[in-house]
Amino acid sequence: MPTHWENWSGSVRAAPAEVHYPRTLDEVIALVRTARARGVGVRVVGAGHSFTPLVATAGVLVSLDHFAGVERVDFPAQRATVRAGTRIHDLSAQLALHGLAQSNLGDINRQSIAGAISTGTHGTGAALGSLSTQVVALTLVSGTGEVITCSEQHNRDIFKAAQVSLGALGIITSVTLQLEPSYCLDYRWGREQLDVTLANLEYERIENRNFEFFWFPYSEWAQVKRSRRTDAPAQPRTLLRGFNDLVLENGVFWLLSELCRMVPPLSPRVAHLAGELISDGHEVNASHRVFASTRLVRFQEMEYSIPAAAMADAVRAIDARIRQARINVHFPIECRYVRADDIDLSPAYGRDSAYIAVHMYRGMPYRDYFAVVEPILRSFGGRPHWGKLHTLTAPELRALYPRWEAFAAVRRQLDPDGVFQNDYLRALLGDIGATV
Ligand SMILES: Cc1cc2nc3c(=O)[nH]c(=O)nc-3n(C[C@H](O)[C@H](O)[C@H](O)COP(=O)(O)OP(=O)(O)OC[C@H]3O[C@@H](n4cnc5c(N)ncnc54)[C@H](O)[C@@H]3O)c2cc1C
Repeated sequence: MPTHWENWSGSVRAAPAEVHYPRTLDEVIALVRTARARGVGVRVVGAGHSFTPLVATAGVLVSLDHFAGVERVDFPAQRATVRAGTRIHDLSAQLALHGLAQSNLGDINRQSIAGAISTGTHGTGAALGSLSTQVVALTLVSGTGEVITCSEQHNRDIFKAAQVSLGALGIITSVTLQLEPSYCLDYRWGREQLDVTLANLEYERIENRNFEFFWFPYSEWAQVKRSRRTDAPAQPRTLLRGFNDLVLENGVFWLLSELCRMVPPLSPRVAHLAGELISDGHEVNASHRVFASTRLVRFQEMEYSIPAAAMADAVRAIDARIRQARINVHFPIECRYVRADDIDLSPAYGRDSAYIAVHMYRGMPYRDYFAVVEPILRSFGGRPHWGKLHTLTAPELRALYPRWEAFAAVRRQLDPDGVFQNDYLRALLGDIGATV
């Protein structure tokens, strides 16, 4: 009896024939071997927060929700080995009990750790890599049911492919993370003229540990967020941050979004108003609490990574195009920085990157908007975020990734029968050949 499955944004629906929640490594191995023998495809799901059909399957859907928790902590080395299904918010809480923290996180913490790294999930910080760069070793069950461990020192080719692998190589069962001692951030946010933000980008991205801005189309304003490390103790969360998070960024914004959904031509004026409403604030808190925002308003999203130095030019080009095409959009555009890495399929491979993300309220048409922005980002050498919407397929993607063939070789080695291949991965990565 097929089960109904839907992702966070509602952009993907699937009817897997079976859903499994293994509790042990042996159960994961048995699941893969049985599916392979039966000729049934397998996909793994984390928290279902990707916008694309990465986990869609009519075969076997595997969730590691019951294979979660911290397995081992090595405090002197500041490392922890974590089961793949662990949600990031649980992980942060457990690590804090050991006096440890992740160097950076994205702007929500609802993802599973394996799901997050598998698409190259990132936060912001010019000197900080994506979450995949925090992984120093991992274990996976391949398409033949073999258990493989890999790291920089051991099975390096597999490791570099597995750090961002879209669930195409096997089921990751645990990851070892390089962490740091728990730390607090001094976090300040406020309204700034977009022209000023763009003029100061080079200074801001180097001066702040974490720097990002959300700019409202049809408005001269950006919301700028800056964090620095501090030795000051965490303060109880202020009413202001709570008000900003829940009331302004979620409650009021949801009401404004519903208004735009019902009367789309109001979107430019709503975006303008939202820019006017940006508040200023300040908080000192544990890093993981500062990073995590509450996102109750659902949306569709496209995000591209481009060379860091191209941020201001790309923002100006998108701004001009939105106005020219009179796009009905009121969501802000999110602009972040990520350090270069050496991971085969990382969008930040080989270059310090700026990430630019566009959003559309769920229920409003997003394709025309994304179609207007995507060529601009591509013209700057953009690589799409693997978990977010885009229109690229294997022939275009291959040209963007110098290590494309290295990843493909590991994929053929680990999943020779295409047990983990679905229609979407076939289009994205190319057909592996003998598919089940
Ligand atoms: C509200 C919201 C905010 C977001 N914020 C950010 C952000 O700040 N930065 C950012 O970069 N992204 C962000 N994202 C995108 C999100 O982080 C990624 O899409 C991430 O991959 C989702 O993790 P997940 O656990 O939900 O994985 P899923 O979406 O369920 O799966 C993602 C991929 O991981 C694979 N996978 C999952 N578990 C395993 C496993 N055990 N072994 C092998 N493969 C596995 C799946 O097969 C799939 O290919 C956001 C998304 C939403 C909805």
